[in-house]
Amino acid sequence: MIHYKTEEEIDLVRESSLLVAKTHAEIASFLKPGVSSLELDKIAEEFIRDNGGVPAFKGYNGFPCTLCMSPNEQVVHGIPNKKALIENSILSVDCGVLMNNYYGDSAYTYEVGEVDLEVKNLLKITKESLYKGIDMAVVGNRIGDISFAIQNHAELNGYGVVRELVGHGLGKSLHESPEVPNYGRRGSGQKLKKGLVIAIEPMINMGTRKILQHNDGWTITTLDKKPSAHFEHTIVVREGKAEILSSFKEIEKIING
Ligand code: MG
Ligand code: MG
Repeated sequence: MIHYKTEEEIDLVRESSLLVAKTHAEIASFLKPGVSSLELDKIAEEFIRDNGGVPAFKGYNGFPCTLCMSPNEQVVHGIPNKKALIENSILSVDCGVLMNNYYGDSAYTYEVGEVDLEVKNLLKITKESLYKGIDMAVVGNRIGDISFAIQNHAELNGYGVVRELVGHGLGKSLHESPEVPNYGRRGSGQKLKKGLVIAIEPMINMGTRKILQHNDGWTITTLDKKPSAHFEHTIVVREGKAEILSSFKEIEKIING
């Protein structure tokens, strides 16, 4: 069953999503070669709690940390650790916050130091795919219109679209109906109605779309060990144009100086 949100509920999801955005910006200012993902995780947890939120992922099905931190060939659900981040690598960071009983959820793939042009292009196209999906998230369209837009843009650029992990509804729960796949047919699936709050989150691989689940029960990597990128916004379906409830503005202000 889908729970369509009232404007009051959307306001609460927006507040949680903006705390997610500010948490990203907070860690973005520390993210560089030599720093460990576990150090960034501690900074994020403290920042979220200082601002009245609760880390949404910590303890979720037993996940041990605040952020999912997935470097290079890790697609999603990487566990922060003490290893130093290295120059010419990427780090996908997924952050969720619970505040006032409503969740926000957003992911961003960061460049660590100077990064090869072909990897920069993977990040660019993955982010573009997300926005092409969001453009389709309007009243009267269907879930498949979002899915197709994402898949089409990624595959036209020669990249692999992960099938096994999908976007989702959210609100009082971190994962609600409907599922929002990053691949699919135009005009298929659930019709989009006003007040539908969803996280759209393409996971795009430089090589094969195939993935591998590690025996830590969490980490997912690409089968060919080539890099993977992940960008995610929490949005609400509206008439004519979706409203993005999370934000990359705070992050990009930091990383673009
Ligand atoms: Mg997420
Ligand atoms: Mg999500």
